[in-house]
Amino acid sequence: MAIYTREDLILMIKEAGLRVTEHRLAVLSYLSKVKQPITVYELVDALRKKDNIDQATVYRNLSSLHEARLLRRLDFNHGHAHYELETGRASHQLVCSNCEVVEKIEGVGVDDIVKKMLKKSKKFKSINTHSIEVYGLCKACT
Ligand SMILES: [Zn+2]
Ligand SMILES: [Zn+2]
Repeated sequence: MAIYTREDLILMIKEAGLRVTEHRLAVLSYLSKVKQPITVYELVDALRKKDNIDQATVYRNLSSLHEARLLRRLDFNHGHAHYELETGRASHQLVCSNCEVVEKIEGVGVDDIVKKMLKKSKKFKSINTHSIEVYGLCKACT
């Protein structure tokens, strides 16, 4: 996983056309260090403890960062949002349909499938990125 320095994150925010604030940096910095998409609750909790940021502020920053396409929001049929940094790279994960376990799987090529989808499509001309969620039961839930 890529390591993002404070300077990298500042640049990302500027390039997205947003004002650089400590709160935005704190949200991006935290998300740049997690290995998999985390729930909005975990993020709120972590940032309250770590940087003393209140919930409303976290939500507000999540929404502006998401609008600026710096974050990816995933649902997983859990009824709550999960966030990760938008790296522009494809993202594939196994999701437990019984608990909160999510595992990011890298190195499995699905480009052929995506190309086939585009070939069959009547309305699309190109594809930017893709996100695949595969549901199952984790070992603890089996
Ligand atoms: Zn969840
Ligand atoms: Zn599970």
